[in-house]
Amino acid sequence: MKTIKDLNIENKKVLIRCDFNVPIKEGKIVDDTRIVGALETINYALEKNAKVILLSHLGRVKEKADLEKNTLAPVAIRLSELLNKKVKFIKTTRGEELEVAINNMNNGDIILVENTRYEDLDGKKESSNDEELGAYWASLGDVYINDAFGTIHRAHASNVGIPNNLRGNSAFGFLIEKEFNALSTLESPDRPFIVILGGAKVSDKIGVIENLVTKADNILIGGGMAFTFLKAKGLNIGKSLLDEDNIEFCKSILEKYPDKIILPIDTAITNEYTNDEEYRIKEINQLDNNEMGLDIGPKTVELFESYLINAKTVIWNGPLGVYEFDKYKINTDHLLEYLVSHNIKTILGGGDIVAASTKAGLKDKVYHASTGGGATLEYLEGKKLPGIEAIK
Ligand code: AMP
Repeated sequence: MKTIKDLNIENKKVLIRCDFNVPIKEGKIVDDTRIVGALETINYALEKNAKVILLSHLGRVKEKADLEKNTLAPVAIRLSELLNKKVKFIKTTRGEELEVAINNMNNGDIILVENTRYEDLDGKKESSNDEELGAYWASLGDVYINDAFGTIHRAHASNVGIPNNLRGNSAFGFLIEKEFNALSTLESPDRPFIVILGGAKVSDKIGVIENLVTKADNILIGGGMAFTFLKAKGLNIGKSLLDEDNIEFCKSILEKYPDKIILPIDTAITNEYTNDEEYRIKEINQLDNNEMGLDIGPKTVELFESYLINAKTVIWNGPLGVYEFDKYKINTDHLLEYLVSHNIKTILGGGDIVAASTKAGLKDKVYHASTGGGATLEYLEGKKLPGIEAIK
């Protein structure tokens, strides 16, 4: 993987596509993790005396009302504090003000350009990878670095259009390098290689199941999605989550790989979707019509552990229960703890399971917690990612 270290950036104008898509409430940044994450690449460019021009999206811009709430202005302030250095914020995505500011830069200066998706107001130019826009942004710099993993599965002007116009002078930043080094261990994993899948919908995970079922030694399935598999086996799942449209898919996977897919054998049930009611543990074939399973049960935990005990590599996507409710997060937490305490090389595949691991204080103890939601899933589906291909 070609990284910023492989390019000569000394004294050059370096365009860095960051992921500053941070949560902002009433003009205040609620969580600056993504800004902190970008510092390593930015600092490296500064050490090399580059002129640093930062680009990022923030939220979605569909109408004029979205402009003010999605300005990157608060990010410029926070970044400036973190770097202890002035960050010049340019309130536009193109035009004279931006060009003059760039032409007047000294080595070691930093500019943050306004939200790239401001361009979406005018015919979705950023999100549809408008050719003219990609060429224009590329014309502002000598070198392009992509360090925004969260949008790597999208073909946008700021992550595909620019490198298309700066061929040979484009590379990845340290964040993307880290993500890929970790995720690519799944190409030839140490075995047994176990996949854990949970979460709500089968439909979101079809591509992942299809791609990983041939590579993994076993797939342990919990969460709401397990119930569609159980229904496909002919069990009564009561009021548990059902993804009706995918019963047939589950059936075909179970028929094709009967020994690979491991399903829950017991479950924590209630009558209502709430944290307030007491739950009961039931065998998986004992559910009544008015009951719903909100977590796996203790026998399933033991069953899953029997597969994990010898595992050398684990990839996990989606919590095994309704982890937003205290009662139904205990088994997800327990198995996270189990993987950490047994030193099993574990990759958490983005989204909710990373949030669960953060809540449990275990995120920094696993081998890798992937930051991309959709991007990580598409990687696990085995798809080619436009942001990677454009630089490759
Ligand atoms: P996903 O985005 O597909 O990873 O789904 C995560 C969501 O799945 C979380 O909001 C969980 O509350 C939900 N979930 C996990 N287990 C269950 C379950 N047994 N019943 C309903 N929802 C669940």
